[in-house]
Amino acid sequence: VGLLYFCSMASDFTVRFLGTGSAIPMPGRHPTAQWVSIGERHYLVDCGEGTQMQIRKFHLPMQRLSAIFISHMHADHFLGLPGLLSTLDLLDFKKPLTLVAPAAVFAYLDDYAKNTGNAFRFPIHRIPTDAVRQAEPVFEDKSCTVTAFALHHSIDCHGFLFKEQPKPLKIRRESIAEFGLSHLEIQQLKAGISLSRLENVPAHLLTMAPAPPRTYAFMTDTRPLFKWADLVSGADVLYHEATFTLTWKERADQTGHSTAEAAAKFANAAKVKQLYLGHFSSRYSDLTPFLEEATPLFPNTFLAFDGLEVDIYPESITEIPEGYF
Ligand SMILES: [Zn+2]
Repeated sequence: VGLLYFCSMASDFTVRFLGTGSAIPMPGRHPTAQWVSIGERHYLVDCGEGTQMQIRKFHLPMQRLSAIFISHMHADHFLGLPGLLSTLDLLDFKKPLTLVAPAAVFAYLDDYAKNTGNAFRFPIHRIPTDAVRQAEPVFEDKSCTVTAFALHHSIDCHGFLFKEQPKPLKIRRESIAEFGLSHLEIQQLKAGISLSRLENVPAHLLTMAPAPPRTYAFMTDTRPLFKWADLVSGADVLYHEATFTLTWKERADQTGHSTAEAAAKFANAAKVKQLYLGHFSSRYSDLTPFLEEATPLFPNTFLAFDGLEVDIYPESITEIPEGYF
């Protein structure tokens, strides 16, 4: 019964891969973009060409975007941005949009606005990543915090670690009747405020710890970079680029990319729960060699594909909510 509940409930933390190709777009393999939803909030990570069409194809709520994160300024990671922002403007997008990106992206957008006379009419809150040489928090809202961390590519590039905000404490159902808790008292206990009338009751009889915050790590484009194994340690999902297999290892080294083997070794070192490989070179029409290379080193490896949505569930769902059946 628990398993049924686990499988049939949609998660409120999802990652949708909109583009899993690399520099040369292919039919069915768009350049990099991902739609991340946490709680009520929606975020876009990278915005290669065609991203707005992918957003439409998968019926994602474009007008509810809170923030866009751009890893680096290579064409296949940001060229879709002017088009997406123009569309939002035409749709009368009003709310402030946060844009976390290299400063060069802001200059590019400013040039576009100047040369076309089409300035975006909604506020864009700019957060440049250029000064992040190691790892720093760059964004926070009521759903999550995001840490940017420097990758090792041919130009400045950043990975992003999404971590959901801690959940409130859970109330022990039996304690509600036992101690006659009012609605207000339940809210206070959930927020960690102790009740003076129950000061002699040990806290663990009233409340339980919430599930640990879920995390999603995004790492593309980069050479293997084991120094971040601690930072992303235990991530629920890691998306790591595997532009090449070992056959093209030299090419991977030259261009600042990783092989499937390296991605799997990193996932293993970081003890993440699931690894999704992506950013596949257009050289490969069959992707099974990526999986064959990675799974012996990290069994929980999956191939990302355009349109795939990954649900990230809380670690332990122990109780079925009342009224579920
Ligand atoms: Zn790149």
